[in-house]
Amino acid sequence: MPNVAVDGKLREECGVLGLYGRGLDVARLGYFGLFALQHRGQESAGLAVTDGKEIKAHKGLGLVADVFTEEDIASLGSLGAHTAVGHVRYSTAGGGGLANSQPLVANHRRGHIALAHNGNLVNGEQLREELESQGAIFHTTSDTEVILSMLARYRQYGNENALVQALAHVQGAYSLVLGTEAQLIGVRDPRGFRPLCLGRTGCGGYILASESAAIDAIGGRFIRDILPGELVIIDKSGVRSRRFADSPVSACIFEYIYFARNDSTIDGLNVYRARQELGKQLALEHPAQADIVISVPDSGTPAALGYAAAANLPFAEGLVKNRYVGRTFIEPGQELRELKVKLKLTANIEVIAGKRVVMVDDSIVRGTTMQILVRMLRQAGASQVHVRVSCPPYVSPCYFGIDTPSTAELVAAQCDVKEMCALIGADSLGFLSLDGTLAALSPAQTSACVSCFTGVYPMSIDKVKRETRLVRPADDWSDVRG
Ligand code: SF4
Repeated sequence: MPNVAVDGKLREECGVLGLYGRGLDVARLGYFGLFALQHRGQESAGLAVTDGKEIKAHKGLGLVADVFTEEDIASLGSLGAHTAVGHVRYSTAGGGGLANSQPLVANHRRGHIALAHNGNLVNGEQLREELESQGAIFHTTSDTEVILSMLARYRQYGNENALVQALAHVQGAYSLVLGTEAQLIGVRDPRGFRPLCLGRTGCGGYILASESAAIDAIGGRFIRDILPGELVIIDKSGVRSRRFADSPVSACIFEYIYFARNDSTIDGLNVYRARQELGKQLALEHPAQADIVISVPDSGTPAALGYAAAANLPFAEGLVKNRYVGRTFIEPGQELRELKVKLKLTANIEVIAGKRVVMVDDSIVRGTTMQILVRMLRQAGASQVHVRVSCPPYVSPCYFGIDTPSTAELVAAQCDVKEMCALIGADSLGFLSLDGTLAALSPAQTSACVSCFTGVYPMSIDKVKRETRLVRPADDWSDVRG
């Protein structure tokens, strides 16, 4: 199964959400919040709510709008819950399917818990094998259940301490939201790979979300980002913070380049502004003799605007996106692949004909979509097509929560820029340099993860697997529902 989206982009990972507030309709607000995170995962969605005594969950495959009916939201709302945990998913580790959809909900003899995870554990498989050899039973194939199982081992120490103990064994990327009987807990891994932020809701409640856009969407107010290695506990006393680890930070640079919403702000840097700066830098590094600048919408648009401003060229809507095309089930094959792209993007002949065009996109993965788009522009009458990409060539797979094709399928890992240019049929091709990328995001992101551009990872995947060993046998979970 291909692991790039229909439009040839990398798959976003997941989105997590948590709400806490007595007297708040956390179910309905959670539902609205999930819509704002839909871009982070379209394969499944779920929401769990608790009033402290009981936990109710609803999950399903598909988009948020498909998964929840008004009755589902009303049913969740009828509990009068004070805590909600939500999740949208594109499967990374463990594969898809309803069993792996989140939040994972577990009932324990001392209470219950709902867990939502964004990221990917690099030692998840190894921990699972060890836990299984010690008698643990798993109901899903996702690495998130490994965290839940680890948590169960230390549950006697109380939720907060159990979590800290469990996380000491876990390596990789994780932004977590947990809902227990009395608390909403947010965690960001020590390197801060994936974003997580905190906000206030209208009626004195709190929200945790992968992106600040979800806080805005429910009428909340952004307070701050959760720091790498920080755990925040929200309960009736307010918000407490605890640092559980200290490590060099390597937040994912691709959140700024492509994954996050334009209207989100992550670690103090607005995504829209970041993309514009990337585009400006791109124009300085790779100017072109052209008449207009166009973007591959939507994520390529801010960078194209930045490019156009820096190059003093007009920006125009040369490619028009059909926003009403959902999933398409078209079998592979060059002709049909082309049709699939054309269903989503059409060249605006009025804008393109007779022009020397600069087309800006945020990334090239396999190169097949770009090849189709270049051809589409030529068919629309473009006299020249210059492709500009607002990040360096993507040459190495991600182990931290992004589903990437194998190195063999990454066009930049197989070809140099000249070969890629010939392959996509452009008149010229330019990628933003790594230094230029970091300069554009500076000073907010000077120590970001850039492994997919360099092949050098912030942690040794094999070393992590060797060094992680468990110390005690498993505790008893009475029921774990995937
Ligand atoms: S490898 Fe790339 S996509 Fe993965 S976390 Fe690092 S920067 Fe992000």
